[in-house]
Amino acid sequence: MSAQLPHFSTPADAFKTYASVNLVGGQHCKTASSLDVINPANGDVLGQAAASDAGETAFAVQTAKEAQKAWAATPARDRGKAVAAGARAVLEQAEMISQILARETGKAIRTECRGEVAVAADIVEFYGGLGSELKGETVPYNPRMLTMTTLEPLGVVAAILPWNVPLVLMALKIAPALVAGNSVVVKASEEAPFATFLFAEIMMAHLPDGVLNVINGTGKDCGDPLTRHSDVAKVTFTGSEAVGETIYKVAAERIIPTSLELGGKSPMIICADADLDKTVAGAISGMRFTRQGQSCTAASRIYVHADLKDAFMAKLTAQLNEMVIGDPLDEATDIGTIINAKQANVINGFVAQAEATDGAEVIRVGKLPDDAALKPDLFMQPTLLVGLPADHPCVMQEIFGPVAVIETWSDYDDVIEKANATHYGLAASVWTKDLSTALDSTSKLNAGYVQVNQNLTIQPNVSYGGFGRSGLGKEASLEAMIAHFTRSKTIVMNFD
Ligand code: NAD
Repeated sequence: MSAQLPHFSTPADAFKTYASVNLVGGQHCKTASSLDVINPANGDVLGQAAASDAGETAFAVQTAKEAQKAWAATPARDRGKAVAAGARAVLEQAEMISQILARETGKAIRTECRGEVAVAADIVEFYGGLGSELKGETVPYNPRMLTMTTLEPLGVVAAILPWNVPLVLMALKIAPALVAGNSVVVKASEEAPFATFLFAEIMMAHLPDGVLNVINGTGKDCGDPLTRHSDVAKVTFTGSEAVGETIYKVAAERIIPTSLELGGKSPMIICADADLDKTVAGAISGMRFTRQGQSCTAASRIYVHADLKDAFMAKLTAQLNEMVIGDPLDEATDIGTIINAKQANVINGFVAQAEATDGAEVIRVGKLPDDAALKPDLFMQPTLLVGLPADHPCVMQEIFGPVAVIETWSDYDDVIEKANATHYGLAASVWTKDLSTALDSTSKLNAGYVQVNQNLTIQPNVSYGGFGRSGLGKEASLEAMIAHFTRSKTIVMNFD
């Protein structure tokens, strides 16, 4: 192990240290090109991250391949212990990772970034305890024959990350992959790579060199050659539907397993008997307003029963009004910034379509910051769209911003049909005190992650993943590790 435990006194030190650097084989490997990483809150250039090309990407895969054999031969519990030690070391530097994350993503340090580091470390530690669960089966066949299955690692796993929750999404990929005996090449998000680098480098100090590697670059010059590399045995991707589709096609050419966590348009169905206070709190947390709605699981279609509509809207807008939109680094801030101008344009485009729709109402809540040090165009108020037709683009498509569609319902079958009407199927929630409504609706909703009376985020050991165009495969659980990071071999021994 040559990887050193990194220590930075300030986030700026980290940006300088990771300038044009990939973390490969436990080393800082300089890349020929770099790209700017911007602080979305004020437009400052934070630093220059690596912009890897196909050759630099291939070097990481080659290094991972060389390290994987010995790692696979390491007892599974020992692999798990090393991974868990990495998680505990991450927690010791949680504040520095959070400070970096807030600067590069624009997410508020108090409401988002600290929680993200803690959840990511928790997921890694959870998987660290599962090494001994990589068990096979024996099959009764003939007393003089032994028929059994064993679980083997796949080889080199490519893990491609988006910018919205990069640490949690990295944890969901690297921890089960490593514990199962694979080596990993992480492709960080070029929008927000630095916290990913620090988190991973802390873990690397507890792992053999080359078992975990992190590279950065654009999708075209780094992500694509990574996916195409003949030594990559599996791709696990979280990101947009369009890129997920491309990756799936590329992986199909080599017939390698692929996990995809893509978009969502998750319905939240509020029944007439729901607890109003809990439902309003659930709508705010479920919509991920503190993450500027930049969440694939965002409860972005809220179907509220006609009997509760007025009370719900009054309470929701009052509570959203209390939320502070501002500098992500300010401890008073609840809501930070959109990641970049491209994403802000997409969101504004959707809202403009709603504004141009007859009978629709666009309700913007809260006060935008007036701090001259902040870049005003990336701050956005929580926005509620009321009275849209059921097939409106704002109802059917993922907006990935702080924009929720609110619709009133009174016919149960109709609301279930509407909830299932998009091509997504990531998450859904139902709010009711009635057990039969809860059981019936959860069985009918077309979503991979359905909750009743809560809108929680990812929890260790609770399988998470979508149906339809929301993706393929599950994450976060023991079953996910076995299904997606191992292969089952059948062995038949005949002593007859
Ligand atoms: P994106 O798809 O643009 O990029 C994701 C990653 O893929 C980046 O690292 C990018 O560089 C890389 N990439 C781009 N083109 C590639 C290619 N051709 N080959 C290989 N890699 C390529 O997504 P984003 O803008 O970073 O993130 C936002 C999207 O992520 C949203 O659409 C959201 O729904 C989705 N998301 C889904 C989940 C989930 O769990 N389902 C979670 C978070 C985000």
